[in-house]
Amino acid sequence: MIRAIDRTILNFDQLGLTPTLLRAVGDMGLFAPTPIQAEAIPAVLKSADVWATAPTGSGKTLAFALPLVQQHLLQPRQTNFRRPIRTLVLVPTRELAVQVGDILTHLAYQPGLKVAVVYGGVSINPQMMGLRGGADIVVATPGRLLDLVDHNAVHLANVQHLVLDEADRLLDLGFADELQRVLALLPAKRQTLLFSATFAPEVEALAANLLHDPVRITVEAFDGHKPDITQRAIAVDEKSRTALLRHLIAENGWKQVLVFVATRYACEHVANKLYKAGIYATPFHGEMSQGARQDTLAEFKAGRWDVVVTTDLASRGIDIAMLPVVVNYDLPRSATDYTHRIGRTGRAGAHGDAVSFVTAQAQAHWQLICKRESLELTLEQVPGFEPVDEPPAPQGNGGIKGKRPSKKDKLRAAALGHRPN
Ligand code: ADP
Ligand code: MG
Repeated sequence: MIRAIDRTILNFDQLGLTPTLLRAVGDMGLFAPTPIQAEAIPAVLKSADVWATAPTGSGKTLAFALPLVQQHLLQPRQTNFRRPIRTLVLVPTRELAVQVGDILTHLAYQPGLKVAVVYGGVSINPQMMGLRGGADIVVATPGRLLDLVDHNAVHLANVQHLVLDEADRLLDLGFADELQRVLALLPAKRQTLLFSATFAPEVEALAANLLHDPVRITVEAFDGHKPDITQRAIAVDEKSRTALLRHLIAENGWKQVLVFVATRYACEHVANKLYKAGIYATPFHGEMSQGARQDTLAEFKAGRWDVVVTTDLASRGIDIAMLPVVVNYDLPRSATDYTHRIGRTGRAGAHGDAVSFVTAQAQAHWQLICKRESLELTLEQVPGFEPVDEPPAPQGNGGIKGKRPSKKDKLRAAALGHRPN
């Protein structure tokens, strides 16, 4: 359960929600709104555009889902013949579509609203069938949504509410074309809601452009609202990382560990090595079939796998109750990715541990992440796994005098068996 509650608002019924939705929230076993819910729900109910930043695991889904469903209840649709899509929720991954779709489906059940959840990697036909007669709320990944538009199965001209969950991810380059195409199909006059734990400076201008006179809500990650995650960094040689991971799993008796690596290949490789060493480990990445992806995640949530080795695919939004440990086997590319990765643990007030492996090669990059995140962590060493590799000589010095590898550097590198820069 979330610990920190806004001091002034103690109950969901003080937020202007209807009894139907209050019951739905009660059915979920929730007692009090989280800070982002306390702030965002009234703003969304007022039909304002909202730009919300709140930490990982702080309850952002209900912060938009509850007031949106309520808006549907307050403005009954004109006809039962064909339901126009009035709310569109975009998310960056298929797993997140399922997760957000489940919550909206729960809230929409009693009021009799129809929620359709669409994402790629599975046959499009059942989704087209499901959309016959329309839907009140659609949760979608952008690519599949556009496929459905092309098949004439989805019409977006009546959308009144647009949500971008993990908004900064949807606004970055990887989704730029798809997002532009979707936006072009929506009415200009609509309510737009952006939710994320992070908004990198690069996407701020794009975000601002999408919004009309927005209510800006920032739930600071200060003590009490901050996810309760103990962060550690361990210096280790590249080749010793799997052994160290095995050691940590055995020593700490870790049962549910989410391990992040840099590539799909590494997912398979590390998972295999752990499996052969007798640890129930399995990969989870974007080259697996959607069925396998869904099964793996469900089995992990159910505790069948001790370790899931994944890429940044699993870094956004995925909610695994009480997930105790996240390991960065390879460091993330950016401080933003770091925030999202470790945010898979320490959710809804639970405690979590996040351990990052720092090789000699990655030390400079790690320092950059620490600086951006204002992290002050000592680089630990684990007995038996003390690193011997040395950091590489500085690269790309642009010919700055005194920065070229010295003869001594070259000899040292040769002794370590790699080429100097
Ligand atoms: P975010 O999107 O901010 O990362 P989620 O919406 O996925 O967070 O919610 C994280 C977890 O917190 C979920 O397991 C959810 O059930 C739980 N949660 C949400 N709202 C509350 C609340 N008001 N009280 C307790 N737990 C909550
Ligand atoms: Mg979320």
